Amino acid sequence: MRAAVLPDLKAPLEIRDVPVTEPGPGEVLVRVAGAGLCGSDLHLMDGALSGLPPRLPWILGHEVTGYVEALGPGAGGFGHEQPVAVFAGWGCGVCDECARGEEQLCIRPQSLGVHRPGGFAEYVVVPSTRHLVALGDLDPVSSAPLTDAALTPYRAVRKGLSRLVPGTTAVVIGAGGLGQYALQLLRTLTPARVVVVEPLRLHHDIALELGADRVLRPDDEESLRQLKCSAAVVLDLVGNDSSLATAARLAARGGLVVLVGMAGGTLPFRFSSTASEVVVTTSHGGTRQELAEVIDLAASGRLTSRTHEVDLAGVNAAITDLRAGELAGRVVLVP
Ligand SMILES: [Zn+2]
Ligand SMILES: [Zn+2]
Repeated sequence: MRAAVLPDLKAPLEIRDVPVTEPGPGEVLVRVAGAGLCGSDLHLMDGALSGLPPRLPWILGHEVTGYVEALGPGAGGFGHEQPVAVFAGWGCGVCDECARGEEQLCIRPQSLGVHRPGGFAEYVVVPSTRHLVALGDLDPVSSAPLTDAALTPYRAVRKGLSRLVPGTTAVVIGAGGLGQYALQLLRTLTPARVVVVEPLRLHHDIALELGADRVLRPDDEESLRQLKCSAAVVLDLVGNDSSLATAARLAARGGLVVLVGMAGGTLPFRFSSTASEVVVTTSHGGTRQELAEVIDLAASGRLTSRTHEVDLAGVNAAITDLRAGELAGRVVLVP
């Protein structure tokens, strides 16, 4: 099969012919329809996530949709050619986190495209049909980013739902791929006023189209001063020193800061570094059940995906554009 292979850290991907693995007992072979290109793929390519990828060469791709091609012995519950989304947060299946249905938090993670070969290829082997969610009538290609770019902010937004009552404000820092889903989810699931902090003009227009009440630049000191300590919930989808400082500054007393972005920034923490009793937490992926909920929102038209389909051979140009922040929507690689 054709696959985009990472030969070395920081190197361009290479299109190679690699063998298709037959599905073993309980496994399922999925023919990839689309694989979303994600900011975390850049972190993996750069070797910025310690110990990952586990070996080289490596096949990236954790935002995968496709069709059931073949079921291994004993695997069931899905039919041949059925369109599916692949839940990527694979765990060991037996630890306490996995038993609670929080496989993305497994102590022995085996995530698609991160710990196990991913979907920048014509086929992926999925260890169990429990990682599949039926796509129904949703378009498989444009649905690929739902599996992470929408799932991750969905979990983050859910952490803040009880605080986002009428009259409150939610802030989204970063209106790229994840931020555009976060904004829609806040609009759909809460009555909160939504303020977006984003440097790029291109993303300002999209954020306003998607229903943001206000969009401002991170260097708009006057506006930030007015908004100080006003947000019941801040979602930081960037995660550098500057975005975390903004998040801490805007969170209201007793508010919640949810860090999602993996840019590696730090937040100095002392008694008065935030308003009183602000809670700071991370949010990591989502569960298979949360993915089913995201797919239901998309199927009912309450969550839309802006995607560019790119042939797998165009992956390096798409990576260059993603690094430059010059993409209005999510790239979906089509093998
Ligand atoms: Zn992703
Ligand atoms: Zn586990």
